[in-house]
Amino acid sequence: MERICSIIPESTEILISGGVKDIPYAEKIKGKLRGKIIAGKTTLNEMVNIINESIAVISVDTGIAHIAAHLGKPLIVLRSCVSYNWWAREQYGREIRVISADSVCAGGHIAKDFPDCLNAINIDEVFLAVKDFNKKSKIF
Ligand SMILES: [Zn+2]
Repeated sequence: MERICSIIPESTEILISGGVKDIPYAEKIKGKLRGKIIAGKTTLNEMVNIINESIAVISVDTGIAHIAAHLGKPLIVLRSCVSYNWWAREQYGREIRVISADSVCAGGHIAKDFPDCLNAINIDEVFLAVKDFNKKSKIF
């Protein structure tokens, strides 16, 4: 997370969203880094407005990611092995950068809040995706 924040200009506000039960995880992700935790503090309506005003979104494959995709926002999705088709190019008519670790579930996916295939996503890959993403989109 520190490396990802290092390539995002200080003038760009970083928001960490989620539900009420995600607050401890949001605090862990944020640590001592800059950014504001909005997990558990917004309504869906407010979240849609926040996404609409955002310059980019990094999200696990939740409704937030789909809202960002529908709004045409620059988007990086960290997806589980069971949602391959949700992020196919045809779904949103454009290429969306998707990061996954499907091979972890080669023996079968075990459904839980944070499945193994999501936890196995390498943060270095996310960092490189943000870096590459910015190079192509010039969003920062
Ligand atoms: Zn899986």
